[in-house]
Amino acid sequence: MNPPDASVATPRAAPRIIPRSEHSISRSHISPNALRVLYRLREGGFMAFLVGGCVRDLLLGLEPKDFDVATDALPEEVKKLFRNCRLVGRRFRLAHVFFGRETIEVATFRATSAPSQGDEPLPETDPEDGEAPELLDDEAAARAFDASGRILRDNVYGTIDEDVWRRDFTANSLYYNIADFSVWDYVGGVEDIAARRLRLIGAPETRYREDPVRMLRAARFEAKLGFDIDPDTARPIATLRELLSAVPPARLFDETLKLFLSGHGARSFQVLRRRGLLAALVPSVDSYFVSHPGSLVEQLLLRGLSNTDARVIEDKPVTPTFLFALLLYGPIAAIIEATPPERWHELATILEACDQAVREAQTHIAIPKRFALGVREMFALQPRLEHPRGRRALRLLEHPRFRAGYDLLLLRAEFGLAPPEMAAWWTRLQEAPAAEREHMADALAGDAARSTSAPRRGGRRRRRRPGPKAAARS
Ligand code: ATP
Ligand code: MG
Repeated sequence: MNPPDASVATPRAAPRIIPRSEHSISRSHISPNALRVLYRLREGGFMAFLVGGCVRDLLLGLEPKDFDVATDALPEEVKKLFRNCRLVGRRFRLAHVFFGRETIEVATFRATSAPSQGDEPLPETDPEDGEAPELLDDEAAARAFDASGRILRDNVYGTIDEDVWRRDFTANSLYYNIADFSVWDYVGGVEDIAARRLRLIGAPETRYREDPVRMLRAARFEAKLGFDIDPDTARPIATLRELLSAVPPARLFDETLKLFLSGHGARSFQVLRRRGLLAALVPSVDSYFVSHPGSLVEQLLLRGLSNTDARVIEDKPVTPTFLFALLLYGPIAAIIEATPPERWHELATILEACDQAVREAQTHIAIPKRFALGVREMFALQPRLEHPRGRRALRLLEHPRFRAGYDLLLLRAEFGLAPPEMAAWWTRLQEAPAAEREHMADALAGDAARSTSAPRRGGRRRRRRPGPKAAARS
């Protein structure tokens, strides 16, 4: 883990301590709850530092997503200091301190022999309902609590200079000390942040083998921060990316959400493709784009991801269902297109294609059932939205997936994959008062009766005698 190689970021025995007067982190940018936790630990006689992404983001002038605290207090000691605290984690216990919607994670310094981050699926807030955290894997968590006593404390907990080793990138390994507001840097993280450089601590190949998810994290930080990945850190990805197939699918689901639902999804997609990581993460999605270079589907996906990014930045809710509908659009289209053309618009064909595409993706990423069903419903709605049938169409407005289905229709229409006039009709319908809606549905039914099908192109209808079937259908 500590090869004599000059290009490797090896932690120093003693940190470089950057005093408050020489760095830009101000307490006014730190969450008041995080400060409360830090001060309370300090008053309890413990060391207390902010660590990881929040220190990096504060130095960059960005607003941290969350605040993580590192301390020499043992989890049980942390718990004693806070009433609003719960211990979580399997072999390595962490304290979560709750303040309404905000959770401050407090980790005891960890020795390198401690289980790596990757072994510890942490409780996650359900991304769709944003309610209280639930354990991703209840059974595993229960086992974790049974097993936790078997681990010798000395093998797990460590000192701050051991803790630095287990962190991934130098930029993620800075400690902000609440005792004097200084920043502790063991690895040259401050210089790397200034140079906007992502560098793994230790020998990159070893670190990726220990935890292949670090390859996805490199891509995520490249996309999120616009950092360059240092050549030594980037190089092994091309040969080691296949190791991602051994990562538990539940963890890859979490990472996928972080890549695509944190406000930089479009850039994540491009970085993942360029580094060959999309092929390792979801092969079916990558292979569609390899066999359809520059396709409309790729443009639709990128636009959908940019729209999602804009929503995240505006603090609007986003859902994994919509994300997976975008990602799986290509594979679903490919499966549909492999059937005879007369079957392409049949509901059974569409549903079967969704199920097949989801099943294939599930072998890599554990997409929870509710999102997989959502994807199916969004696609099943497409023919109904493209060909609304009189007043019955109004009922679709109440469909629980209407909004997601309509958003997908808008995207498809934008890229010529669905009739734009129908997308516009649904937009007008939602804006219209109730009485007007019935009128619109009747008018559409009348139109449909006069032509053989719903108008496809710019409303210019060919003169054709209405077929009895078309009239009967409407
Ligand atoms: P962000 O919160 O902006 O996504 P972050 O750097 O805070 O980024 P987290 O996943 O919140 O990332 O992890 C917090 C810290 O824990 C990281 O900064 C890093 O020091 C450490 N860490 C997280 N995951 C790993 C990992 N797989 N390997 C090594 N260290 C990790
Ligand atoms: Mg973080």
